Amino acid sequence: MAKEDGITVKKNEDMPEWYSQVIIKAELADYSPIKGCMVIRPNGYAIWQKIMDFFNERIAKMGVSNAYFPMFIPEAFFKKEAEHAEGFSPEVAWVEKKDEEGQKLALRPTSETIMYDSYSRWIRSWRDLPLRINQWCNIVRWEVSDVKLFLRSREFLWQEGHCVYETEQECDKEVMMILEEYRKVVEELLAVPVILGKKTEKERFAGAKYTTTMEAFMPDGKALQMGTSHNLGQGFAKVFGISFLGKDEKSHLPWQSSWGFSTRLIGAAVMTHSDDKGLVLPPRVAPIQAVIVPIIFEKTKDAVLKEAEKVKKELHDFEVKIDLREEYSPGWKFNEWEVKGVPVRIEIGPKDVEKKQLVLVRRDTGEKKIIKDSEVKMEVKQLLDDIQKSIYDKAKKFLEESTVKVDNWDDFMKAIGKRKLVLAPFCGEEECEDWIKDKTGGATSRCIPFNQEKIAGNCVQCKNKAKFWTYFAKNY
Ligand SMILES: [Zn+2]
Repeated sequence: MAKEDGITVKKNEDMPEWYSQVIIKAELADYSPIKGCMVIRPNGYAIWQKIMDFFNERIAKMGVSNAYFPMFIPEAFFKKEAEHAEGFSPEVAWVEKKDEEGQKLALRPTSETIMYDSYSRWIRSWRDLPLRINQWCNIVRWEVSDVKLFLRSREFLWQEGHCVYETEQECDKEVMMILEEYRKVVEELLAVPVILGKKTEKERFAGAKYTTTMEAFMPDGKALQMGTSHNLGQGFAKVFGISFLGKDEKSHLPWQSSWGFSTRLIGAAVMTHSDDKGLVLPPRVAPIQAVIVPIIFEKTKDAVLKEAEKVKKELHDFEVKIDLREEYSPGWKFNEWEVKGVPVRIEIGPKDVEKKQLVLVRRDTGEKKIIKDSEVKMEVKQLLDDIQKSIYDKAKKFLEESTVKVDNWDDFMKAIGKRKLVLAPFCGEEECEDWIKDKTGGATSRCIPFNQEKIAGNCVQCKNKAKFWTYFAKNY
Protein backbone atom coordinates (compact mmCIF):
# COMPACT_ATOMS: atom_id res chain seq x y z
CA MET A 1 0.00 0.00 0.00
CA ALA A 2 1.28 3.47 -0.86
CA LYS A 3 2.34 5.54 2.13
CA GLU A 4 -0.35 8.17 1.62
CA ASP A 5 -3.04 5.46 1.76
CA GLY A 6 -2.02 4.73 5.35
CA ILE A 7 -2.55 6.99 8.35
CA THR A 8 0.12 9.71 8.22
CA VAL A 9 -0.27 11.21 11.71
CA LYS A 10 -0.15 9.65 15.15
CA LYS A 11 -3.18 9.39 17.40
CA ASN A 12 -1.48 11.07 20.33
CA GLU A 13 0.08 13.84 18.25
CA ASP A 14 -2.82 15.26 16.26
CA MET A 15 -6.04 13.56 17.26
CA PRO A 16 -8.51 15.55 15.09
CA GLU A 17 -6.45 14.96 11.93
CA TRP A 18 -5.81 11.32 12.87
CA TYR A 19 -9.51 10.73 13.51
CA SER A 20 -10.54 12.24 10.21
CA GLN A 21 -7.94 10.20 8.30
CA VAL A 22 -9.05 6.95 9.94
CA ILE A 23 -12.70 7.56 8.97
CA ILE A 24 -11.88 8.65 5.41
CA LYS A 25 -9.27 5.98 4.67
CA ALA A 26 -11.33 3.18 6.18
CA GLU A 27 -14.11 4.43 3.88
CA LEU A 28 -16.65 4.80 6.67
CA ALA A 29 -17.71 8.30 5.66
CA ASP A 30 -16.75 11.23 3.51
CA TYR A 31 -17.12 15.00 3.48
CA SER A 32 -19.91 16.50 1.41
CA PRO A 33 -20.17 19.61 -0.79
CA ILE A 34 -22.88 20.83 1.63
CA LYS A 35 -21.27 22.55 4.59
CA GLY A 36 -21.81 20.77 7.88
CA CYS A 37 -23.02 17.54 6.27
CA MET A 38 -21.41 14.15 5.75
CA VAL A 39 -21.80 11.12 3.50
CA ILE A 40 -21.98 7.73 5.19
CA ARG A 41 -20.30 5.16 2.96
CA PRO A 42 -21.26 1.46 2.81
CA ASN A 43 -18.59 0.43 5.38
CA GLY A 44 -19.97 2.96 7.85
CA TYR A 45 -23.59 2.23 7.09
CA ALA A 46 -22.99 -1.50 7.65
CA ILE A 47 -22.01 -0.67 11.24
CA TRP A 48 -25.16 1.42 11.69
CA GLN A 49 -27.17 -1.49 10.25
CA LYS A 50 -25.74 -3.81 12.92
CA ILE A 51 -26.60 -1.32 15.64
CA MET A 52 -30.15 -1.04 14.26
CA ASP A 53 -30.60 -4.81 14.04
CA PHE A 54 -29.40 -5.34 17.60
CA PHE A 55 -31.53 -2.54 19.05
CA ASN A 56 -34.66 -3.37 17.02
CA GLU A 57 -34.59 -6.88 18.38
CA ARG A 58 -34.26 -5.62 21.96
CA ILE A 59 -37.02 -3.00 21.81
CA ALA A 60 -39.41 -5.33 19.99
CA LYS A 61 -39.24 -7.47 23.12
CA MET A 62 -40.32 -4.43 25.14
CA GLY A 63 -43.35 -3.96 22.90
CA VAL A 64 -41.97 -1.04 20.88
CA SER A 65 -43.00 -0.82 17.20
CA ASN A 66 -41.24 1.13 14.45
CA ALA A 67 -43.12 3.78 12.48
CA TYR A 68 -42.39 6.87 10.40
CA PHE A 69 -43.57 10.48 10.73
CA PRO A 70 -43.12 13.48 8.38
CA MET A 71 -39.85 15.40 8.51
CA PHE A 72 -41.67 18.77 8.40
CA ILE A 73 -42.85 20.36 11.63
CA PRO A 74 -45.39 23.20 11.50
CA GLU A 75 -44.25 26.29 13.38
CA ALA A 76 -47.39 26.26 15.53
CA PHE A 77 -46.39 22.84 16.92
CA PHE A 78 -43.12 24.21 18.29
CA LYS A 79 -44.90 27.08 19.94
CA LYS A 80 -47.11 24.77 21.98
CA GLU A 81 -44.39 23.73 24.40
CA ALA A 82 -42.59 26.95 25.31
CA GLU A 83 -39.43 25.53 26.88
CA HIS A 84 -39.03 22.99 24.07
CA ALA A 85 -39.44 25.73 21.43
CA GLU A 86 -36.90 27.97 23.12
CA GLY A 87 -34.42 25.12 23.57
CA PHE A 88 -34.40 24.26 19.88
CA SER A 89 -34.99 27.65 18.27
CA PRO A 90 -31.35 28.57 17.55
CA GLU A 91 -30.79 25.42 15.51
CA VAL A 92 -34.04 24.98 13.61
CA ALA A 93 -33.77 25.09 9.79
CA TRP A 94 -36.90 26.53 8.13
CA VAL A 95 -38.22 25.58 4.72
CA GLU A 96 -38.65 28.50 2.33
CA LYS A 97 -41.99 27.30 0.93
CA LYS A 98 -44.98 27.61 3.24
CA ASP A 99 -47.86 25.18 3.40
CA GLU A 100 -51.37 25.82 1.99
CA GLU A 101 -52.43 27.69 5.13
CA GLY A 102 -49.41 29.96 4.94
CA GLN A 103 -47.76 28.14 7.81
CA LYS A 104 -43.97 28.00 8.23
CA LEU A 105 -42.46 24.51 8.27
CA ALA A 106 -39.24 23.38 9.94
CA LEU A 107 -37.05 20.37 9.20
CA ARG A 108 -37.35 18.19 12.30
CA PRO A 109 -34.68 18.79 14.94
CA THR A 110 -36.54 16.10 16.95
CA SER A 111 -40.08 14.74 16.51
CA GLU A 112 -41.92 15.13 19.82
CA THR A 113 -44.36 17.69 18.48
CA ILE A 114 -45.31 16.04 15.17
CA MET A 115 -45.73 12.66 16.83
CA TYR A 116 -47.75 13.90 19.78
CA ASP A 117 -50.20 15.63 17.50
CA SER A 118 -50.98 12.17 16.07
CA TYR A 119 -50.97 10.63 19.52
CA SER A 120 -53.69 13.08 20.61
CA ARG A 121 -55.97 11.47 18.01
CA TRP A 122 -54.89 7.87 18.57
CA ILE A 123 -55.20 7.74 22.33
CA ARG A 124 -58.74 7.62 23.73
CA SER A 125 -58.84 5.23 26.64
CA TRP A 126 -56.61 3.29 29.03
CA ARG A 127 -56.94 0.40 26.54
CA ASP A 128 -54.76 2.34 24.07
CA LEU A 129 -51.91 2.49 26.59
CA PRO A 130 -49.05 1.98 26.84
CA LEU A 131 -48.28 3.26 23.35
CA ARG A 132 -44.67 2.59 22.34
CA ILE A 133 -43.32 3.84 19.03
CA ASN A 134 -39.82 4.27 17.69
CA GLN A 135 -38.63 5.79 14.44
CA TRP A 136 -35.29 5.58 12.60
CA CYS A 137 -34.82 8.79 10.69
CA ASN A 138 -32.65 11.78 9.90
CA ILE A 139 -32.56 14.94 11.99
CA VAL A 140 -31.49 18.46 11.09
CA ARG A 141 -29.91 20.81 13.63
CA TRP A 142 -28.41 23.86 12.02
CA GLU A 143 -25.59 24.43 14.47
CA VAL A 144 -22.13 23.85 13.05
CA SER A 145 -20.62 24.49 9.66
CA ASP A 146 -17.50 22.55 10.56
CA VAL A 147 -18.43 18.88 10.38
CA LYS A 148 -16.73 16.34 12.64
CA LEU A 149 -17.48 13.07 10.89
CA PHE A 150 -20.07 11.08 12.88
CA LEU A 151 -19.62 13.34 15.93
CA ARG A 152 -21.14 16.63 14.88
CA SER A 153 -22.99 17.53 11.69
CA ARG A 154 -26.06 19.47 10.66
CA GLU A 155 -27.87 16.35 9.53
CA PHE A 156 -27.48 12.97 11.18
CA LEU A 157 -29.26 9.64 11.53
CA TRP A 158 -30.76 8.51 14.78
CA GLN A 159 -33.56 6.62 16.44
CA GLU A 160 -36.14 8.34 18.60
CA GLY A 161 -38.55 6.43 20.78
CA HIS A 162 -41.73 8.04 22.09
CA CYS A 163 -43.89 6.21 24.61
CA VAL A 164 -47.07 7.05 26.50
CA TYR A 165 -48.14 5.54 29.82
CA GLU A 166 -51.02 5.66 32.25
CA THR A 167 -48.85 6.22 35.29
CA GLU A 168 -45.69 7.98 36.35
CA GLN A 169 -44.29 4.75 37.81
CA GLU A 170 -44.54 2.90 34.47
CA CYS A 171 -42.91 5.83 32.72
CA ASP A 172 -40.03 6.02 35.24
CA LYS A 173 -39.49 2.29 34.98
CA GLU A 174 -39.24 2.23 31.18
CA VAL A 175 -37.05 5.35 31.01
CA MET A 176 -34.53 3.30 32.98
CA MET A 177 -35.13 0.10 30.99
CA ILE A 178 -34.29 1.97 27.78
CA LEU A 179 -31.16 3.45 29.31
CA GLU A 180 -30.10 -0.09 30.20
CA GLU A 181 -30.72 -1.21 26.60
CA TYR A 182 -28.63 1.74 25.46
CA ARG A 183 -25.84 0.65 27.75
CA LYS A 184 -25.92 -2.78 26.11
CA VAL A 185 -25.68 -1.28 22.62
CA VAL A 186 -22.67 0.78 23.59
CA GLU A 187 -20.81 -1.50 26.01
CA GLU A 188 -21.65 -4.93 24.62
CA LEU A 189 -21.78 -4.15 20.91
CA LEU A 190 -19.40 -1.20 20.52
CA ALA A 191 -17.14 -2.04 23.48
CA VAL A 192 -17.19 1.55 24.74
CA PRO A 193 -17.64 1.88 28.53
CA VAL A 194 -20.14 4.46 29.75
CA ILE A 195 -21.26 6.16 32.94
CA LEU A 196 -24.99 6.22 33.58
CA GLY A 197 -26.67 9.05 35.40
CA LYS A 198 -29.06 11.94 35.40
CA LYS A 199 -28.51 15.32 33.73
CA THR A 200 -28.43 18.44 35.87
CA GLU A 201 -31.21 21.05 35.57
CA LYS A 202 -29.09 23.02 33.13
CA GLU A 203 -28.40 20.06 30.83
CA ARG A 204 -31.88 18.53 31.06
CA PHE A 205 -33.72 18.06 27.71
CA ALA A 206 -35.87 21.09 26.88
CA GLY A 207 -39.39 20.26 28.06
CA ALA A 208 -38.53 17.13 30.06
CA LYS A 209 -39.18 16.45 33.72
CA TYR A 210 -35.77 14.80 33.90
CA THR A 211 -33.15 13.37 31.56
CA THR A 212 -31.05 10.25 32.05
CA THR A 213 -27.89 9.84 30.03
CA MET A 214 -24.92 7.64 29.24
CA GLU A 215 -21.59 9.41 28.90
CA ALA A 216 -18.37 8.14 27.40
CA PHE A 217 -14.91 9.67 27.67
CA MET A 218 -12.81 9.98 24.54
CA PRO A 219 -9.01 9.54 24.30
CA ASP A 220 -8.57 13.27 23.59
CA GLY A 221 -9.97 14.11 27.04
CA LYS A 222 -13.47 15.11 25.99
CA ALA A 223 -16.70 13.57 27.17
CA LEU A 224 -19.22 12.38 24.60
CA GLN A 225 -22.93 12.07 25.30
CA MET A 226 -23.93 8.71 23.83
CA GLY A 227 -27.68 8.65 24.30
CA THR A 228 -30.41 10.07 26.48
CA SER A 229 -33.71 8.78 27.85
CA HIS A 230 -36.17 11.34 29.18
CA ASN A 231 -39.21 11.33 31.38
CA LEU A 232 -41.24 14.10 29.74
CA GLY A 233 -43.78 14.26 32.54
CA GLN A 234 -47.26 15.44 31.49
CA GLY A 235 -46.29 18.77 29.92
CA PHE A 236 -46.44 17.69 26.29
CA ALA A 237 -49.68 15.75 26.88
CA LYS A 238 -51.25 18.91 28.25
CA VAL A 239 -50.31 21.20 25.36
CA PHE A 240 -50.96 18.59 22.64
CA GLY A 241 -54.28 17.56 24.11
CA ILE A 242 -53.35 13.91 24.76
CA SER A 243 -55.71 12.47 27.35
CA PHE A 244 -57.29 9.13 28.09
CA LEU A 245 -60.38 7.86 29.76
CA GLY A 246 -59.26 5.85 32.77
CA LYS A 247 -60.78 2.74 34.30
CA ASP A 248 -62.50 5.18 36.66
CA GLU A 249 -64.36 6.67 33.64
CA LYS A 250 -62.58 10.00 34.20
CA SER A 251 -60.25 11.85 31.84
CA HIS A 252 -56.52 11.74 32.71
CA LEU A 253 -53.27 13.13 31.35
CA PRO A 254 -50.82 10.37 30.46
CA TRP A 255 -47.05 10.29 31.20
CA GLN A 256 -44.58 10.31 28.34
CA SER A 257 -41.00 9.32 27.64
CA SER A 258 -38.68 9.94 24.73
CA TRP A 259 -35.23 8.52 24.05
CA GLY A 260 -32.61 8.72 21.33
CA PHE A 261 -29.12 7.82 20.16
CA SER A 262 -27.45 8.65 16.86
CA THR A 263 -24.73 7.70 14.38
CA ARG A 264 -22.42 9.53 16.77
CA LEU A 265 -21.98 6.14 18.46
CA ILE A 266 -19.94 5.03 15.44
CA GLY A 267 -17.60 7.99 15.91
CA ALA A 268 -17.16 7.13 19.59
CA ALA A 269 -16.21 3.53 18.80
CA VAL A 270 -13.77 4.59 16.09
CA MET A 271 -12.05 7.17 18.28
CA THR A 272 -11.88 4.88 21.29
CA HIS A 273 -10.41 1.77 19.69
CA SER A 274 -8.49 2.78 16.57
CA ASP A 275 -4.71 3.23 16.44
CA ASP A 276 -1.84 4.64 14.37
CA LYS A 277 -2.36 2.00 11.69
CA GLY A 278 -6.03 2.84 11.19
CA LEU A 279 -9.42 1.54 12.18
CA VAL A 280 -9.92 -0.97 14.98
CA LEU A 281 -13.49 -2.25 15.11
CA PRO A 282 -15.28 -4.27 17.74
CA PRO A 283 -15.80 -7.68 16.07
CA ARG A 284 -19.54 -7.60 16.81
CA VAL A 285 -20.10 -4.64 14.47
CA ALA A 286 -17.34 -5.25 11.95
CA PRO A 287 -18.81 -5.60 8.42
CA ILE A 288 -16.01 -8.10 7.67
CA GLN A 289 -14.91 -10.07 10.74
CA ALA A 290 -12.09 -12.01 9.15
CA VAL A 291 -10.25 -11.65 5.87
CA ILE A 292 -8.41 -14.55 4.25
CA VAL A 293 -5.30 -13.51 2.35
CA PRO A 294 -3.96 -16.37 0.22
CA ILE A 295 -0.24 -16.09 -0.56
CA ILE A 296 -0.20 -16.87 -4.23
CA PHE A 297 2.67 -18.31 -6.27
CA GLU A 298 2.07 -19.65 -9.78
CA LYS A 299 2.93 -23.28 -8.97
CA THR A 300 0.99 -23.62 -5.74
CA LYS A 301 -1.88 -21.29 -6.53
CA ASP A 302 -4.57 -23.96 -6.95
CA ALA A 303 -3.83 -25.72 -3.68
CA VAL A 304 -3.75 -22.44 -1.73
CA LEU A 305 -7.02 -21.17 -3.20
CA LYS A 306 -8.70 -24.49 -2.56
CA GLU A 307 -7.64 -24.30 1.07
CA ALA A 308 -8.88 -20.69 1.30
CA GLU A 309 -12.31 -21.71 0.03
CA LYS A 310 -12.40 -24.59 2.49
CA VAL A 311 -11.58 -22.27 5.39
CA LYS A 312 -14.22 -19.78 4.30
CA LYS A 313 -16.82 -22.54 4.22
CA GLU A 314 -15.76 -23.68 7.66
CA LEU A 315 -16.29 -20.11 8.92
CA HIS A 316 -19.80 -19.67 7.51
CA ASP A 317 -21.07 -18.43 10.90
CA PHE A 318 -18.88 -15.33 10.53
CA GLU A 319 -18.60 -12.60 7.94
CA VAL A 320 -15.52 -13.65 6.00
CA LYS A 321 -13.96 -12.39 2.81
CA ILE A 322 -11.24 -13.96 0.65
CA ASP A 323 -8.99 -11.35 -0.93
CA LEU A 324 -8.43 -12.83 -4.38
CA ARG A 325 -6.96 -9.74 -6.02
CA GLU A 326 -3.81 -10.66 -7.88
CA GLU A 327 -2.76 -7.12 -8.76
CA TYR A 328 -1.69 -6.41 -5.16
CA SER A 329 1.02 -8.05 -3.06
CA PRO A 330 0.14 -9.78 0.22
CA GLY A 331 1.96 -7.02 2.17
CA TRP A 332 -0.11 -4.36 0.45
CA LYS A 333 -3.29 -6.23 1.31
CA PHE A 334 -2.27 -6.69 4.95
CA ASN A 335 -1.86 -2.93 5.30
CA GLU A 336 -5.14 -2.18 3.59
CA TRP A 337 -7.15 -4.52 5.81
CA GLU A 338 -5.43 -3.03 8.84
CA VAL A 339 -6.45 0.48 7.79
CA LYS A 340 -10.01 -0.83 7.32
CA GLY A 341 -10.10 -2.45 10.75
CA VAL A 342 -10.89 -6.08 9.93
CA PRO A 343 -10.48 -7.81 13.33
CA VAL A 344 -8.80 -11.03 12.16
CA ARG A 345 -6.53 -11.77 9.22
CA ILE A 346 -5.98 -15.33 8.08
CA GLU A 347 -2.85 -15.95 6.02
CA ILE A 348 -2.54 -19.09 3.93
CA GLY A 349 0.67 -19.85 2.02
CA PRO A 350 1.89 -23.03 0.29
CA LYS A 351 3.88 -24.11 3.37
CA ASP A 352 0.78 -23.71 5.54
CA VAL A 353 -1.20 -25.94 3.18
CA GLU A 354 1.53 -28.57 3.42
CA LYS A 355 1.58 -28.43 7.22
CA LYS A 356 -2.23 -28.21 7.52
CA GLN A 357 -1.91 -24.95 9.41
CA LEU A 358 -3.06 -21.32 9.19
CA VAL A 359 -1.67 -18.03 10.46
CA LEU A 360 -4.12 -15.85 12.40
CA VAL A 361 -3.27 -12.20 13.06
CA ARG A 362 -5.39 -10.08 15.37
CA ARG A 363 -5.89 -6.45 14.40
CA ASP A 364 -5.95 -4.92 17.88
CA THR A 365 -2.54 -6.16 19.08
CA GLY A 366 -0.92 -7.39 15.85
CA GLU A 367 -0.24 -10.72 17.57
CA LYS A 368 0.30 -13.75 15.30
CA LYS A 369 -0.78 -17.28 16.04
CA ILE A 370 -0.25 -20.47 14.05
CA ILE A 371 -3.14 -22.90 14.37
CA LYS A 372 -4.22 -26.27 12.98
CA ASP A 373 -6.53 -25.71 10.03
CA SER A 374 -9.00 -28.20 11.47
CA GLU A 375 -9.51 -25.92 14.48
CA VAL A 376 -10.08 -22.70 12.58
CA LYS A 377 -13.73 -22.28 13.56
CA MET A 378 -13.11 -22.55 17.28
CA GLU A 379 -9.93 -20.45 17.09
CA VAL A 380 -11.55 -17.62 15.14
CA LYS A 381 -14.56 -17.53 17.44
CA GLN A 382 -12.31 -17.35 20.47
CA LEU A 383 -10.17 -14.67 18.91
CA LEU A 384 -13.16 -12.48 18.00
CA ASP A 385 -14.57 -12.82 21.51
CA ASP A 386 -11.20 -12.03 22.98
CA ILE A 387 -10.73 -8.91 20.84
CA GLN A 388 -14.22 -7.69 21.74
CA LYS A 389 -13.43 -8.10 25.42
CA SER A 390 -9.91 -6.80 25.45
CA ILE A 391 -10.67 -3.55 23.57
CA TYR A 392 -13.49 -2.94 26.06
CA ASP A 393 -11.18 -3.64 29.01
CA LYS A 394 -8.58 -1.29 27.60
CA ALA A 395 -11.14 1.50 27.18
CA LYS A 396 -12.50 0.87 30.66
CA LYS A 397 -9.03 1.16 32.12
CA PHE A 398 -8.57 4.47 30.30
CA LEU A 399 -11.89 5.74 31.66
CA GLU A 400 -10.90 4.82 35.20
CA GLU A 401 -7.46 6.35 34.88
CA SER A 402 -8.95 9.54 33.43
CA THR A 403 -11.37 10.05 36.29
CA VAL A 404 -10.26 12.36 39.07
CA LYS A 405 -12.23 12.89 42.24
CA VAL A 406 -11.79 16.33 43.81
CA ASP A 407 -13.30 18.30 46.68
CA ASN A 408 -11.87 21.78 46.13
CA TRP A 409 -11.72 24.34 43.34
CA ASP A 410 -7.91 24.32 42.89
CA ASP A 411 -7.84 20.61 42.23
CA PHE A 412 -10.93 20.94 40.04
CA MET A 413 -9.20 23.52 37.79
CA LYS A 414 -6.00 21.47 37.67
CA ALA A 415 -7.86 18.31 36.64
CA ILE A 416 -9.89 20.10 33.97
CA GLY A 417 -6.63 21.64 32.71
CA LYS A 418 -5.22 18.12 32.32
CA ARG A 419 -8.34 17.12 30.35
CA LYS A 420 -9.65 14.74 32.96
CA LEU A 421 -13.15 13.60 33.77
CA VAL A 422 -13.73 15.27 37.11
CA LEU A 423 -16.05 14.01 39.82
CA ALA A 424 -16.89 16.79 42.25
CA PRO A 425 -19.46 17.74 44.88
CA PHE A 426 -21.99 20.06 43.28
CA CYS A 427 -24.95 22.16 44.42
CA GLY A 428 -27.00 21.50 41.25
CA GLU A 429 -27.76 25.19 40.59
CA GLU A 430 -27.81 26.47 37.01
CA GLU A 431 -26.05 29.72 37.86
CA CYS A 432 -23.21 27.86 39.53
CA GLU A 433 -22.86 25.61 36.48
CA ASP A 434 -22.70 28.64 34.17
CA TRP A 435 -19.91 30.01 36.31
CA ILE A 436 -17.99 26.72 36.18
CA LYS A 437 -18.30 26.63 32.40
CA ASP A 438 -17.08 30.22 32.17
CA LYS A 439 -14.11 29.81 34.52
CA THR A 440 -12.92 26.57 32.93
CA GLY A 441 -13.32 27.69 29.35
CA GLY A 442 -16.07 25.23 28.52
CA ALA A 443 -16.32 22.38 31.05
CA THR A 444 -19.93 21.29 31.53
CA SER A 445 -21.65 18.88 33.86
CA ARG A 446 -21.90 15.48 32.17
CA CYS A 447 -24.09 13.66 34.64
CA ILE A 448 -25.01 13.02 38.23
CA PRO A 449 -24.07 9.33 38.36
CA PHE A 450 -26.66 6.88 39.70
CA ASN A 451 -23.80 5.26 41.50
CA GLN A 452 -23.45 7.91 44.23
CA GLU A 453 -21.12 7.84 47.15
CA LYS A 454 -22.20 9.52 50.34
CA ILE A 455 -21.80 13.27 50.11
CA ALA A 456 -21.05 15.81 52.79
CA GLY A 457 -19.63 19.32 52.66
CA ASN A 458 -19.88 22.04 50.06
CA CYS A 459 -20.19 22.56 46.33
CA VAL A 460 -16.77 22.66 44.67
CA GLN A 461 -17.45 26.14 43.25
CA CYS A 462 -20.07 28.17 45.16
CA LYS A 463 -19.49 26.71 48.65
CA ASN A 464 -23.22 26.18 49.19
CA LYS A 465 -24.22 22.78 50.43
CA ALA A 466 -23.40 20.06 47.90
CA LYS A 467 -26.32 17.88 46.77
CA PHE A 468 -24.56 15.16 44.80
CA TRP A 469 -21.32 14.04 43.19
CA THR A 470 -21.35 15.22 39.56
CA TYR A 471 -19.07 14.55 36.59
CA PHE A 472 -17.66 17.56 34.75
CA ALA A 473 -15.52 17.67 31.61
CA LYS A 474 -15.02 19.43 28.35
CA ASN A 475 -17.18 17.75 25.78
CA TYR A 476 -18.12 17.27 22.15
ZN1 LIG B 1 -22.53 25.42 43.41
